[in-house]
Amino acid sequence: MTLGNVEKEFTAAKYQQDELHIEQTALSKIADAVGTPAYVYSKSYLTDQYNLLSEALSSTPHQIHYSVKANSNLAILALFKSLGAGFDIVSAGELSRVLAVGGDPKSVIFSGVGKSVEEINFALKAGIGCFNVESRGELLRIMAQAELLGCVANVAIRVNPNVDAKTHPYIATGLKENKFGVTKEEAFALYLLAADHPAINLTGIDCHIGSQINEPEPLLQALTSILELRDTLEKEGISLQHIDLGGGFGVRYQDETPLDINDWGASVGQILGGRDLQLRIEPGRFLTANAGVLLTRVEYLKIADEPDHKNFAVVDAAMNDLLRPSLYQAWHEVLPVEKSSNAQPLEWDIVGPICESGDFLAKQRSLALAEKDLVAVLSIGAYGSVLASNYNTRGRAPEVLVDGAEFKVVRRRETIQDQLRLELKLELDQAGH
Ligand SMILES: *Cc1c(COP(=O)(O)O)cnc(C)c1O
Repeated sequence: MTLGNVEKEFTAAKYQQDELHIEQTALSKIADAVGTPAYVYSKSYLTDQYNLLSEALSSTPHQIHYSVKANSNLAILALFKSLGAGFDIVSAGELSRVLAVGGDPKSVIFSGVGKSVEEINFALKAGIGCFNVESRGELLRIMAQAELLGCVANVAIRVNPNVDAKTHPYIATGLKENKFGVTKEEAFALYLLAADHPAINLTGIDCHIGSQINEPEPLLQALTSILELRDTLEKEGISLQHIDLGGGFGVRYQDETPLDINDWGASVGQILGGRDLQLRIEPGRFLTANAGVLLTRVEYLKIADEPDHKNFAVVDAAMNDLLRPSLYQAWHEVLPVEKSSNAQPLEWDIVGPICESGDFLAKQRSLALAEKDLVAVLSIGAYGSVLASNYNTRGRAPEVLVDGAEFKVVRRRETIQDQLRLELKLELDQAGH
């Protein structure tokens, strides 16, 4: 195996005898069994990432709340639950998923700027652990609903610390121009407002500054910033039990140097400085991104007939299966499932069948490809399947969880009947009545 390939093995996908595997299972075997496209995840990679993070924080009392929105498959939720995770949710639907796998409602944190009355009531009745409140209006709404239901809502205020996470603008959330959280001044006012309210129990303070953060400074700045507010509140007689740093821990997709999670964990411990506080984090991408590949097959090769034209490899996966390249210009590694030694590589744009020029998975990749070849798009375990749509009436691809030499289909392929059954076929005469 060449050095280049060893270097690329930072994900769950690895070559064994020139065949790409997840754990001890050849991806070609999965393609034979479930067809393509398909999302394939490694159980051991997910487990290892969870343990890595937990160990990085071992000297700090902490709880990991898996951010369900990164990958909400029930099997993955069940796995993280078994490892001891709580959950961070952003909708009633995600709460239902957690409850469906027997997750403890008390381990659930509810984030998001647009919680509806119905969602708040559902979460209050379920008895969730904490609402991360993102506005004054939301706080007032939670107070009113908790009073009506005769219960007490646990609340943390999400502070927007106005630090630059140095990430893609669509996934930065901690600048004052973003819609998330409230300023420190407003947070202080909201804590005072809620302090003596019988239906509110102020348990913590929260921030989340963005996603795919690979430098420790913004995360540590945010921590220092909200800790100041926590200490000020303490002096006001408002005592909080937890500090929630959100998620956003970056991973390697291409050649990034990802956040050193152990250094970060040590710095967090130092900054907390023995305060009597539980640390909470809400990782999504860090736990799941590199655990998964999107398995797809080449349908057609369109070779440029003029020197300044591009070569297109049309594959059976599309932007409806993996939106990140189209949405964020995200870069995902693409590897052949079977390495062929004799074929000449060409430069390809890897595109899907959808009728949009924005439908691409990768651009300008040097690969030796033939029609019917299987290729794997790497690092799709986070914000892959969850962003899938039915655009062009394409069924959502199945999800497969690999465990050693075995694998399970943890979401079957969506059929055309699955899609049509939600719709009404109007019976009309020729005049359209
Ligand atoms: C999306 C999100 C997360 C997870 O972000 P990652 O970058 O996937 O770790 C955590 N908390 C909140 C509030 C979020 O919106």
